[in-house]
Amino acid sequence: MKPDGNNIKIAVQKKGRLSEFSLEILKSSGVDFEIHQGRLFARCRKFPLDIIFLRDDDIPEYVQDGNSDLGIVGSNVVSETGARVVTLDALGFGRCELSIAVPGKSGLKKVEELEGKRIATSYPNILSGFLDEKGIRDVNIVEIHGSVEITPSMDVADAICDLVSTGSTMRLHELVPIETVLESEAILIANPDTLSEGWKLELVERLRFRIQSYLRARKTKYVMMNAPEESLEKIRQTLPGMKSPTVLPLAREGLIAIHTAVPEDQFWNVAEQLKEFGATDILVVPIEKLVL
Ligand code: ATP
Ligand code: MG
Repeated sequence: MKPDGNNIKIAVQKKGRLSEFSLEILKSSGVDFEIHQGRLFARCRKFPLDIIFLRDDDIPEYVQDGNSDLGIVGSNVVSETGARVVTLDALGFGRCELSIAVPGKSGLKKVEELEGKRIATSYPNILSGFLDEKGIRDVNIVEIHGSVEITPSMDVADAICDLVSTGSTMRLHELVPIETVLESEAILIANPDTLSEGWKLELVERLRFRIQSYLRARKTKYVMMNAPEESLEKIRQTLPGMKSPTVLPLAREGLIAIHTAVPEDQFWNVAEQLKEFGATDILVVPIEKLVL
């Protein structure tokens, strides 16, 4: 039983790349909250949840120490801090890579060539683990927080190890990635003790179920089309993962309407085939939740 007045807590990034989507996920999960500027805490309505706003670097340890039950944070930060937390789900946003990059004009091509050189990074633990594994021992790791990409031009470092998503910042500074150290995305983490406490675990599972329904819906589109009746079998075979589409008769003889859900990343391939089979008026609409 949940003790009166006790909510589970989730820590999210206060201000930064992960903030907006972290809050969108929570809002879409039916928890209702207001954010007041400067406040570090929000109590939710409709679900016994408190939201704590933190710098992303602090989230893993906060969860590890039980000051928060859950957290949404990049897996890069969890790896760097080495916090003892349980990873529950990958959330499919905040994707990036931690990469080693060198100035284009340095002529360096392989990470092995960095022996005896300086690498600037905000991720010294991940980097030294990676270099160790590669057997590259003699590297000077220059720990720096913020503006890592300018260090080579200032002759503070010979290479950098930093996060990249599109690569535009690296290009702007004439840096070329030569090695991926880690792939990262936002994850939902939990304190291990939270998961062994009955009432908390129940709330965590309810929240996860809602989050999954929302994430699944984002990846899926509802597709409606008209088609000749005789194409139904071919169309059914084209539509991926569809168990049984809704088929409705139309006023015009020989024509039917077909409704089904299609994974977004497959939509264009599917649409081209549907047209070949005579489907017309293909209407695509977003799905808000997909509860299985
Ligand atoms: P804070 O003030 O909370 O410490 P920050 O400046 O450390 O913020 P952000 O730049 O907002 O952090 O990035 C937060 C997370 O977003 C990163 O740890 C990473 O998981 C993810 N991310 C995705 N793409 C990128 C990118 N191109 N550069 C940096 N981080 C990225
Ligand atoms: Mg940070």
